[in-house]
Amino acid sequence: MTKHHPYSRPDQVEALKFALLRRVALYCMWLHVMLIGVFWHLQVETLAVVNIGSVTMWYIGIKLIDNNKPSLALRVFCLEVALHAILVCAYLGMSLGFQYYLWTVSCLMLLDYQLKLKHAVIYSVVLITLFATLKLLFDDVTYHYRYQELVPYVHFANVLICGIPMIYTISHIRKMTLQQRDELAELAARDPLTKMFNRRYAKELITHAKESCISTHSPLCLVMADIDHFKKINDTFGHGKGDKILKAVAKTIQSHMLPADIAVRWGGEEFLIVLAPCSGDEAIRRIEQLRQAIASIEFENNIIKITMSFGITSWDHSESFEQAIHRADAVLYRSKELGRNCITTAPSMSTI
Ligand code: GH3
Ligand code: MG
Ligand code: MG
Repeated sequence: MTKHHPYSRPDQVEALKFALLRRVALYCMWLHVMLIGVFWHLQVETLAVVNIGSVTMWYIGIKLIDNNKPSLALRVFCLEVALHAILVCAYLGMSLGFQYYLWTVSCLMLLDYQLKLKHAVIYSVVLITLFATLKLLFDDVTYHYRYQELVPYVHFANVLICGIPMIYTISHIRKMTLQQRDELAELAARDPLTKMFNRRYAKELITHAKESCISTHSPLCLVMADIDHFKKINDTFGHGKGDKILKAVAKTIQSHMLPADIAVRWGGEEFLIVLAPCSGDEAIRRIEQLRQAIASIEFENNIIKITMSFGITSWDHSESFEQAIHRADAVLYRSKELGRNCITTAPSMSTI
């Protein structure tokens, strides 16, 4: 059956993405709180004051996310990073590596799906251009404050601190994208009501199962199954109840399948079962068990009784799928003629 994915709806993905952004923002805010003390200690008071402004901007951004304005928050963050990078490079030069934060925010900018891609790309390019311009403007500014010997280590730390949110964010987006891809594949393969394979997807699986039986010289069987008098059930108990019955029947069919079998919702209340590999006798035995299981499902304290008719045929390796399915359909029809709630086999097979 289908796996439940945590990122199943687009708005859930957005909410998760902005929760992620909030976490990164919180991390940045505390970093700037720390920088107030650092700059104060270095006696670069202007930058200490600038960092009070930075903390305020990150705080405002976090509040904007909390008030459901993440797009605006992202722009506040970008503005803060840009201003901070310009001022730090102007005062302390490029050797400390504060300019690299422009790369991080230019990547984050692209995650704002509320911005048109064209605009997000323009903002990102502006930030990267600012990064390039800082080198032209402040390359000759040298650091002449305390702890000169620590400058390479600060540069090292800044590169890591810039890189980690990028790696963290992109790895999460990768995880979400892969889970969504799985979910889309699942949606494309299964019928939404019964969660059984749908006709389109099943054809691929069936072709593959047949090829595998041919290569191992194993027999395979096709079974067509149809709920008896289902129209009457719908007419009597309503379409909603009909849907619940369809789900219960599908579940019973699935529970009787082996890993290599393929069960498909072929049409409204009609199912195709491919037993591969499986001999004719084995198919008859297993489908008889399924027929009995379906007839004994209890709906509404047994007020509603459900039965199914089956047509079984072996599938000769030289035959096309259409030929075999045509025969399975014909024998199913024969089961209906014989009074329903029974199994009919194709003439080429032994009978029960
Ligand atoms: P028979 O024993 O000859 O198969 O009779 P039947 O009434 O089952 O066959 P018929 O083809 O006359 O009617 C099939 C009914 O199945 C009609 C249709 O409304 C119902 N059906 C098909 N798909 C669905 C579905 O998804 N949900 C519900 N509730 N009913 C469905
Ligand atoms: Mg029917
Ligand atoms: Mg039918």
